[in-house]
Amino acid sequence: MLLQAGAARNRAARAGWTAAGPRPTVGRMSGPVATADAPPAEPRASAVAPACVEITTSRVADVGRMPVRRALPRRERRTVGPWCFADHMGPAPVTETSGLDIGPHPHTGLQTVTWLLAGEVLHRDSLGSEQVIRAGQLNLMTAGHGVAHSEEATGHYRGQVHGAQLWVAQPERTRHGPAAFEHHPELPRAELDNAVGTVLVGSFAGATSPARRDSELVGVDVALRPGRSAWPLDPTFEYALVILDGQALVQGQPVGPGQLAYLGRGRDQLDLEAAEEAQVLLLGGEPFEEPILMWWNFVARTPEEIAAAARQWRSADPRFGRVDSPLPRLRVPPLPRLRPPG
Ligand code: MN
Repeated sequence: MLLQAGAARNRAARAGWTAAGPRPTVGRMSGPVATADAPPAEPRASAVAPACVEITTSRVADVGRMPVRRALPRRERRTVGPWCFADHMGPAPVTETSGLDIGPHPHTGLQTVTWLLAGEVLHRDSLGSEQVIRAGQLNLMTAGHGVAHSEEATGHYRGQVHGAQLWVAQPERTRHGPAAFEHHPELPRAELDNAVGTVLVGSFAGATSPARRDSELVGVDVALRPGRSAWPLDPTFEYALVILDGQALVQGQPVGPGQLAYLGRGRDQLDLEAAEEAQVLLLGGEPFEEPILMWWNFVARTPEEIAAAARQWRSADPRFGRVDSPLPRLRVPPLPRLRPPG
């Protein structure tokens, strides 16, 4: 137990959440995508770049009770393939009765990808799903036309929660479709020199995830051992890395927690080196050609779509169903002036 607490403290310190480390700069948010992440009135400007290592700094915030580092969207980099949102959450302590505590809230036009390195979280949604997710497992919720969910304490788990909450923008073909929920307790692994990849979605190094995908993309959690590794990439994809724990040299450039390393497109191999063990999230995909508009928990195409979704959530419209949760529903913040994506 003492050892575990020590390990958790070390992990927290390595991830940068020490007392002297970065403090949340923004108060508790009522929902994910805020103006501070990427002003919605600005034209979407995620130009695809050729192979590069472009570092952007994540924004520190609180979501529910959890400190997060928001790697996407940022003003400088809004999407990587169809990945349009990436929060690195924790490590932070939870108890049996006090967890992420994110009350019922709606989504449209996106898939939520929940991945934990440590801990347990209870997911509930308006489809009637009630699923505890544990470290090493994947929850994939497809919003389509509309869904609502909550993320809660499990009633039995006490300890650290550490992981990632990611969104994938759905293409026009599926974004008006029905909502769905998948839980994958087992995921395929890809063994590389000094690295083991767990494939969350898509294919990597010969291993393919069973998770649904609506476009060409990949998401892999890679455990790096000390030494060098070379990862096979798809040159038609653009990629980025988010370091969840430890440090890595990416094409010779140091990257750590709180940073997103955008890698561009056109690579068939990525060279990494770690002095100690590290945990890295690789996100990639074919550049997402449809201009998207993101606000609060909605991914849409026009300001009218966003306004309609906000109005319908406020009025408890059946579009988003009902979540059987003890937590209060999240309230929609005041709608800013939104301009169509450029
Ligand atoms: Mn959500």
